[in-house]
Formats: sequence, structure tokens, C-alpha cells
Amino acid sequence: MSDTEFQPLDSGKVPRFAGLSTFMRLPMARPDQVDIALVGIPFDGGTTNRSGARHGPREIRNQSSLVRRVHHVTGLSPFDQLRAGDCGDVPVSPLDLHDALDTITEFFTKVRDAGARPLAVGGDHLISLPILRAVANEPLGLVHFDAHSDTYDEFFGNRYNHGTPFRRAVEEGLLDPKRMVQIGIRGSISDAGNYDFATQAAVRIIFIEELMARGVEAVIAEARSVVGAAPVYVSFDIDALDPSFAPGTGTPEIGGITTREAQAMVRGLAGLDIIGADLVEVSPPLDPSGVTALTGATLLFELLCVMASASKPKHAR
Ligand code: MN
Ligand code: MN
Repeated sequence: MSDTEFQPLDSGKVPRFAGLSTFMRLPMARPDQVDIALVGIPFDGGTTNRSGARHGPREIRNQSSLVRRVHHVTGLSPFDQLRAGDCGDVPVSPLDLHDALDTITEFFTKVRDAGARPLAVGGDHLISLPILRAVANEPLGLVHFDAHSDTYDEFFGNRYNHGTPFRRAVEEGLLDPKRMVQIGIRGSISDAGNYDFATQAAVRIIFIEELMARGVEAVIAEARSVVGAAPVYVSFDIDALDPSFAPGTGTPEIGGITTREAQAMVRGLAGLDIIGADLVEVSPPLDPSGVTALTGATLLFELLCVMASASKPKHAR
């Protein structure tokens, strides 16, 4: 290790249950100091039903103290491959949705301008839209894990909520629908036409039934070919998981993926040009055991590892 400055706290010196809580026990940092900026977005103003995801960043920081330095499959530590740091929370208004969206875009524009790639922690799924507004210089590919397509049009006449971010992102030219893949989609829908926008835009929807029939490996191979070698964003909604694994979320749907399948699929993204990612919809008030936040924190580490695997860090290690 040539650089000890951007390493998690040494658990041999500061026990995991001690110290101030940051993502992965990393130091607080400015975006210009790091290659990957871990950022919390304590916002759930886009939630249409059961709220609480505004408390996600704080509890995921807490549970991430259980995550260690080295990935057990690759034998690599992302913290030796690049610099990652906790860049704090976006100071979002809990009372004004559009002000919050603008604040998020401003924050992530600074992250982009500093040359860091964001790894964001929600918050509800609407947060993906203002992040994409900041990081998409061109229409991006998207790998999207979720029970829901999130390409609906409106709710109570409001076009900006956690069921609409990817429709808005396509309309705004932030995503290339032909390079979008949605994995794990399922559950009852309010209208048989709920998937029409995505289908007509040629988004590749892989429902849970197809995933179970074909298996994780085949689906990830297809996802890689759909997004290709150009820049891609990864968005992981914790409700992609079965609620037996991740009960603490606002819109659970039974019949979902396991934590092992989730880990295998995220690992399968290694080598893609991932320019940003997020982990959303963990709702601590609905998660008394903390297992959903632990699952979120662990998937955050998996995402960090795949982002590190293909990186050309500006900060040599
Ligand atoms: Mn979602
Ligand atoms: Mn969802």
C-alpha cells in the first residue's frame, strides 16, 4: 500500500463499533481528493406509499462498518486500486421536491467536475434522475435492478416521483433506451399498459420469470451486450431482492432475487465502463433488524469493487 490516507479505519486499532460513522469507515473527503465519491442522499420526497428512505444513508453508513477491506472472490481491495471517500450527504430540502432535485444535480455536477465517479446512496429512486442530469454528457446505458420498471408517467398528476425517474431520463436524453436493461421486474401493476413506454422505447425488460428460467449468468451476459462498451450507469433498487432478504423497503414485492443472485449479478458487471451508480430504497423505519441496510451496505461494496475493477484512477495508489 503506497497510500494509507484513503483507507478504511483499521479495525485492529479502532473497533468496528467505535468511531464516527462513515461509508465503509472511510475518511470524509472532498470530491477532488477521490476517484469514487460515496454520497448520501437523505431524500424520500418522491415516495408514493411507505416512506422512510430518507434515513437510508445514515443507517447504511452504520451497517457498512461490518464490511471489510478485501473482496473474498477477487482477493482485491478496491481501496488499494483507487481512492474512495465519504463525501457526505447532499443537503436536500425535505419540503420542496424540485428544489431538492436541483440541489442534487448541483452537488453531483461538482463531483463530476472534480473528476470523481459517484456511488450514491438513497433515498428513494427519484434521486437517480438528478444524478443522471449531472453525469450524462451523452445518452448513457443503464443496468437497472428493481422489482419495478420506474418508467411510469405520473402519480396524482405529478411527473416526478420514484416510479418515473427512468421515463423522464429517457425523455430528457440522459439515457439511451436501446442500451437499457431492467432486471428482476415483477409484481402486480395498476394498469396492463404500465410497461408500454419501456417496451415501445425498446428497453430490455427481464422479468423475474425469465431470470429464473435462464439463470443469472445468461442474463448478465445479455445485459453486458445490451449496454456495450460505452459509458453505463448502474442503479440498484433494494426491492429487486425478495422481501425475505430485504424487508425494509417501501414497496416490497415477493418472488424476488436472493442476496447471492444479487451479488453474482453485480460481480458480473466487472469491466464495464461504469461512470456512476446508486443503491436506493432502503427504509430503516421498516427495517427493525437492520438486515436490509446491511444488505444495502454489502451491495454497495460489491458495486465499489466492480467500479474499481475497470478504473483508471487519477490518484495513483
Ligand atoms: Mn425503483
Ligand atoms: Mn422498486
